[in-house]
Amino acid sequence: MRIPFVDLKAQYLGIKTEMDCAIQAVINDSAFIGGKNLKSFEMNFADFIGARHCIGVGNGTDALFITLKALGIGAGDEVITAANSFIATSEAITATGARVVFVDCDERTYNIDVAGIERAVTKKTRAILPVHLYGQPADMDGIMEIACRHGLHVIEDSAQAHGAGYKGRKAGKFGTAACYSFFPGKNLGAYGDGGAIVTDDDSLATSARMYANHGRIEKYNHEFEGVNSRLDGLQAAILDVKLKHLDRWTERRRAIALRYDAGLGGIVITPFAPEHVRHVYHLYVIRVRDRAFLAKILSEKGISTGVHYPIPLPFLNAYKYLGHTPGDFPVAHLLKDEILSLPIYGDMTDEQADYVIETVREALNNA
Ligand SMILES: *Cc1c(COP(=O)(O)O)cnc(C)c1O
Repeated sequence: MRIPFVDLKAQYLGIKTEMDCAIQAVINDSAFIGGKNLKSFEMNFADFIGARHCIGVGNGTDALFITLKALGIGAGDEVITAANSFIATSEAITATGARVVFVDCDERTYNIDVAGIERAVTKKTRAILPVHLYGQPADMDGIMEIACRHGLHVIEDSAQAHGAGYKGRKAGKFGTAACYSFFPGKNLGAYGDGGAIVTDDDSLATSARMYANHGRIEKYNHEFEGVNSRLDGLQAAILDVKLKHLDRWTERRRAIALRYDAGLGGIVITPFAPEHVRHVYHLYVIRVRDRAFLAKILSEKGISTGVHYPIPLPFLNAYKYLGHTPGDFPVAHLLKDEILSLPIYGDMTDEQADYVIETVREALNNA
């Protein structure tokens, strides 16, 4: 049996009629930039999170960058973020001119360590940028308490956490703003690049919308210089169709995760999700001592896997200038050689999941 890491083709076939119809309508209307499809998706996605505003932008990296810029963060400022994330998170900080300050992760949830945030706060800190890694909300109570006490903005990197929950509230509703990616492989993915900023703050929403659109509200009346970062009409229409199915796909991901938990618990370290979170399993990440061996056997048996991420951000050449050593991030350093992401997606069948479980069990029993 061949099990891909994600199966975008199966997802498309499941909604083909609806999707083809929506795409054709955009072309018929020539509604390529802005227009009613964008408005509709922005409204529906804001409703989905329960927020006042949603601003569609070009991608998730831009969503983070534009939010930071719109909050006036730049040179001389520091922004605290997680050591284990995709580089987009820290790139967006550096792109504003601010300095990125990395904090290690919690050994059980793999999310940013709250005690580490407290130690990293200085007079220059302006914001905390937690990542809801793998689809599991970061410890928002702890983060909001520190942010409140020090007067810091919180920007949630929700690129992997569409629809995730924390103590009965949606992730993305805690900070000043939340940033989403609609990269095709994300839980809610476009047919190309896309992203969004979600916020309850009226003035931030206006600034971010202007910054993303050349610093303007009216056509040729520019209040300041911004960038061109838009969610196009075609992607918006595609996302609007997919949004209707997102809860169903998420429930399927959670069911697969439960199945993996039951089949693999005790054999490998399975993900830890506290009672009070709704994990949306963008990734199902196990820990196993001989990762290379397991990945090789799975690959031979047709099962695709991934590592998210093989090099924690502070140890990348891109951040050599910060002069970090493994001792600065002991947990991220330990995890990087043991984490392995198993296939998980909204159209995965029980049979496929069982095949993954059996193959992992066989590989490790024979090891
Ligand atoms: C995917 C991702 C991003 C960036 O999103 P793009 O749409 O690819 O620019 C940012 N942060 C995290 C955690 C991501 O996984």
